Amino acid sequence: MNKTLFKLFVITFCLSLITSFSFGCGHVHVFDKKVVKNEYLSSRATCQQVAKYFYSCSCGDKGEETFDYGEKAAHDYVDNKFCNCGELNPAYYTPGLSFALINDQTEYQVSSYTGDDTHVIIPSKYNGKPIIKINDYAFNQLAFLESVALSENLVNIGMYAFNSCTSLTQVIIPNSVTSIGFLAFNNCPIENATLSTTALSKIEKTQLKNVNIIGGEIIAKNSFDGCSLLESVVISDSVQIIEDRVFNKCSSLKNVVMSKNVMSIGEGAFNGCSLLTNIELPNGVEVISDWLFSGCTSLESIEIPNGVKSLGYEAFSYCDSLTEITLPDSVNNIGIKAFVSCDLLNSVSIGSGVTSINYYAFSGCQSLTEIVIPICVTTINKCVFHNCDSLQNIYCQASEIPSGWSAEWNDTQAQVTWGYNE
Ligand SMILES: [Zn+2]
Ligand SMILES: [Zn+2]
Repeated sequence: MNKTLFKLFVITFCLSLITSFSFGCGHVHVFDKKVVKNEYLSSRATCQQVAKYFYSCSCGDKGEETFDYGEKAAHDYVDNKFCNCGELNPAYYTPGLSFALINDQTEYQVSSYTGDDTHVIIPSKYNGKPIIKINDYAFNQLAFLESVALSENLVNIGMYAFNSCTSLTQVIIPNSVTSIGFLAFNNCPIENATLSTTALSKIEKTQLKNVNIIGGEIIAKNSFDGCSLLESVVISDSVQIIEDRVFNKCSSLKNVVMSKNVMSIGEGAFNGCSLLTNIELPNGVEVISDWLFSGCTSLESIEIPNGVKSLGYEAFSYCDSLTEITLPDSVNNIGIKAFVSCDLLNSVSIGSGVTSINYYAFSGCQSLTEIVIPICVTTINKCVFHNCDSLQNIYCQASEIPSGWSAEWNDTQAQVTWGYNE
């Protein structure tokens, strides 16, 4: 190596040593300082999130971790209407609405609408006072009206308020509404509704596709009976009781978000919901009522909560897509024809609490090849496996036929094994 080159190399080496000493080893950054200065700003406060700043080192260098600082910003309403977060300016109302003072000038009502916006938003307050009423005939026969959003504070919707609004497909009716007048929504083809259980009986339901139930405790019987266009339902946790036949023959119903607090579901509530593929049953339900899922021909699976005591008459009859069922130990009774004609049912697990299996419980389950009947089953009525043509093995944990079993309990060709112990 030539001398000059060697010198150059030594100099370069020393320089780099000095550099690493003064900036590398001499000071090790510790990013633990919360300095609120613009140069450390990571993101500004929004209505959703407070500002974030980078931690810094005592030398002034910026770290990579951030910390939160300060308050959220106010909503930023575009055109005085919606914020980017989706929040509606509470002071916004659709131009063309007219308001009138009522009740000793303490509150307002909506009197009429002369605007041309097809989507009407009615605020909760006007001039600082609550809007509590839609006056009789206020929107009567406004054929161009497509949606209306009513706000909290509203209590009363007058008679004929939206009568023959023949394009009105969307309504939002807040829980605060307790009174809806005669024919208020007459001849309105409502497809999407957000409302409480009490408002349900007051709207036209034959065109309904999506329903969001936001309040109330009881869905009254037959509420959606025969609503063949209904596709999805969200039921808020306020609901505790679903009465008889509420969704009877809702043949398009695919999605049901169930209230976690439902304790009782009436008979036939989902009868004939032929597109329903699954549903979550709340833990408080104790009875699978008669015909509850009868004819739910797309129902592929269902979990019976541990707490259910009894399966009713034809509870799962004609569930042609159901392949397996597990009955938890809480179940003590399998009702008459409970699983009649479940064509694909081939796995049945009977829990250790079942004491009785009623007439024709599994009759016509063509895909059932074997089943275990636990020792706890003390009563079996006749023909529980009638027409189960594929049934080859019935494994009974009892050592011999219990006295409570009908002599005609089994009319199949299946081999019966007594004293089964596995
Ligand atoms: Zn530093
Ligand atoms: Zn916002």
